[in-house]
Amino acid sequence: MVNSELEFKDKKVTVFGLGKSGVAAARKLIALGAKVKATDANPAFDIGVFEGLGVEVELGGHSSKFIEGDDLIVVSPGVHLDIPALAAARGNNVPIISEIELASRFITKPIIAVTGTNGKTTTTTLIGEMLKAGGKRIAVAGNIGLPLVDVDDSGLDYVVAEISSYQLESIVDFRPWIGLLLNIQPDHLLRHHTMQEYMDQKARLFMNQTGDDYLVYNQDDPAVVEMVKTAKAKLVPFSKTKSEIITLPKEMIRIPGRHNLENALAAASAAYLCGVKKETVAEVLRTFPGVPHRLEYVTSISGVEIYNDSKATNPDSTLVAIETFKDKGIVLILGGRDKGVGLEGLAQKVKENVKAVVLIGEAVPRFETALRSAGFSEIYQAGASLDAAVRRSLVLAGAGDVILLSPACASFDMFKDFEERGDAFKAIVNKIKL
Ligand code: ADP
Repeated sequence: MVNSELEFKDKKVTVFGLGKSGVAAARKLIALGAKVKATDANPAFDIGVFEGLGVEVELGGHSSKFIEGDDLIVVSPGVHLDIPALAAARGNNVPIISEIELASRFITKPIIAVTGTNGKTTTTTLIGEMLKAGGKRIAVAGNIGLPLVDVDDSGLDYVVAEISSYQLESIVDFRPWIGLLLNIQPDHLLRHHTMQEYMDQKARLFMNQTGDDYLVYNQDDPAVVEMVKTAKAKLVPFSKTKSEIITLPKEMIRIPGRHNLENALAAASAAYLCGVKKETVAEVLRTFPGVPHRLEYVTSISGVEIYNDSKATNPDSTLVAIETFKDKGIVLILGGRDKGVGLEGLAQKVKENVKAVVLIGEAVPRFETALRSAGFSEIYQAGASLDAAVRRSLVLAGAGDVILLSPACASFDMFKDFEERGDAFKAIVNKIKL
């Protein structure tokens, strides 16, 4: 038994936010003998997940009364730290920790933690594949798939974790052996208020690191370079143009785009630090097909390559996708539920690099206006039918062109989530191909 296990026995703990990681944290705490309560803003949360476990639940909000007398609070990434109940807890000096902090108290194997604005899932997955190919026993956890708190590391060599900046907000001792900082873009500003605050959150990744640890970081990103100046870990920079550990020709990497070259360099650096051979790393990069819904190659029809980038739910991601294929004729499927963000940059990029756009979903009118204002008029509409959008795109694209679903919008007007949208797209394409 790890000492930490005793630390939670009979303690009064409330878990805030009952997503996948919140529920996992609550279950872990119950197993440790804590007296667990749970609260979620969603009044319709299905409390069946706690059946028979003796968990007291508050739904539809978080009251200060509910957490009176608590010894500890565990917050989920979706919960704002400035809500009154948590402010009250802080006032009473009740420790507030995140699920990854809780998890890290029980993980004894080296943690490899990936954070940044974009590319986390791709890089984390790649590191997992490289380590597996190198014969290491690993778990891939955190924001992808398995909550970190559910990792049993007894038979493992390493734990590879995708970490969002929200999860870093409430760490105390969390200390990765290798931290990876991919990039910092002015995203998520709504929640983090200012860029400085956002950068401060990301910097927490390495705040507990010492000279025995490594920090792999993107030397091409000025904000990242500025941030890592305060790090105590051994610095391992990577760069598209120069790199200490590794240089990789783009042709060696199956996943497309300059951004994926960065993800590949970051992952390769981590894999080397874990002792994976260069040839093994190279082989994974040559064959790794990418994570589904991120510039995922679907198939080719009559010489037209078709890509599914359903994960691109904001204009920034779509810009990256267009940049990736700018040397080809691009037929771009755009639209869905409009997030209301500025479209000038996207419209300009479309005008410069895209052959035709097919619009779908609720966003059609505003996107059409933005594109026309930028002087782009190759616009077609497919209403609320992805099927019609694909068929129209195939008419517009010629051999050597690319059809790209990179919608720059959320999917909820037509689908459950971006995964369902991407799966539907692939199914439509594959059916047409038959
Ligand atoms: P995350 O987990 O951080 O959301 P993903 O690996 O899921 O990142 O990629 C999401 C989207 O972000 C991709 O479709 C791509 O458009 C963009 N992206 C991926 N890697 C990078 C990168 N290194 N720099 C900029 N954009 C990227």
